[in-house]
Amino acid sequence: MQNIDLHNHSRVSDGLLTPAELVRLAAANGVTTLALTDHDDTEGLAEAGEAARGLGVHFVNGVEVSVTWQQHTVHIVGLNIDPANATLLGGLAGIRSGRMERAEKIAHELAKAGIPGALEGALRFAHNPNIVARPHFARYIVEQGLARDVRAVFKRFLVKGKTGYVKHRWAALSDAVSWIRGAGGIPVLAHPGRYAVGRGVMDTLIDEFVAAGGQAIEVVTCNHTRDQMELFAAETTRRGLMASRGSDYHGPGESYLEPGKLPPLPPQCVPVWQAWGEPFIH
Ligand code: AMP
Ligand code: MN
Ligand code: MN
Ligand code: MN
Repeated sequence: MQNIDLHNHSRVSDGLLTPAELVRLAAANGVTTLALTDHDDTEGLAEAGEAARGLGVHFVNGVEVSVTWQQHTVHIVGLNIDPANATLLGGLAGIRSGRMERAEKIAHELAKAGIPGALEGALRFAHNPNIVARPHFARYIVEQGLARDVRAVFKRFLVKGKTGYVKHRWAALSDAVSWIRGAGGIPVLAHPGRYAVGRGVMDTLIDEFVAAGGQAIEVVTCNHTRDQMELFAAETTRRGLMASRGSDYHGPGESYLEPGKLPPLPPQCVPVWQAWGEPFIH
């Protein structure tokens, strides 16, 4: 039986495991095809690919691109990308450079609220200094004894309207989609149920994603309810899009669901992996 999980993080971005550790956990959980999709960076793909080959796990080169669409942060997963594509790598490098500027502003905001040392603190948790992400700040805030765990941090800090939130402009939706397509990959609208938008705005988002060249929606992911899975499954069939399945795993203690521990795609969906042919077709 196949178990395909196409959304996972390593410590190359904001995950906790090394790429090889992630692959070993996924293999132990029975995952047969795995994508590593770190935020805005492809540095972990070679290590993960090698570990996967050693364990007989099919490996998909992936990335999760940070996008600003209207006033919303939206994530576009790119699957089966060529990790050597210069345009994609250039685009991701541009996003990464903006991350350090934002981290300085976040640290400044936290310092004003009486939490000093957050830039240095977050950088200690960031194994890749090019990707300082909010979970690294969250781990520092937990370490300082200001919250019980990372989840609790995100209720009080680092999100819109709370201490340490900083507005930031990521890549344009059309750029992210075209970098992924240009690198031979499939652009997937990640975890749509997580965006705080109504039906009309969601419809416009998907319209624009498709107009830019987007091809799939992540229908099954860790925080989607059964209703959301059904809603987005219907959206894929209505629009002739493919459907993806990914846990968005970040690491022990920070994710509800381990790699592969997800419901199957609803049966009416066209799985994104069908586009790749054997050995991915089931
Ligand atoms: P960044 O790209 O630096 O803005 O960080 C975004 C990451 O923070 C996401 O990919 C999640 O891993 C994490 N995150 C964002 N919001 C939450 C939340 N409410 N609870 C837990 N983790 C979150
Ligand atoms: Mn993340
Ligand atoms: Mn995401
Ligand atoms: Mn993710």
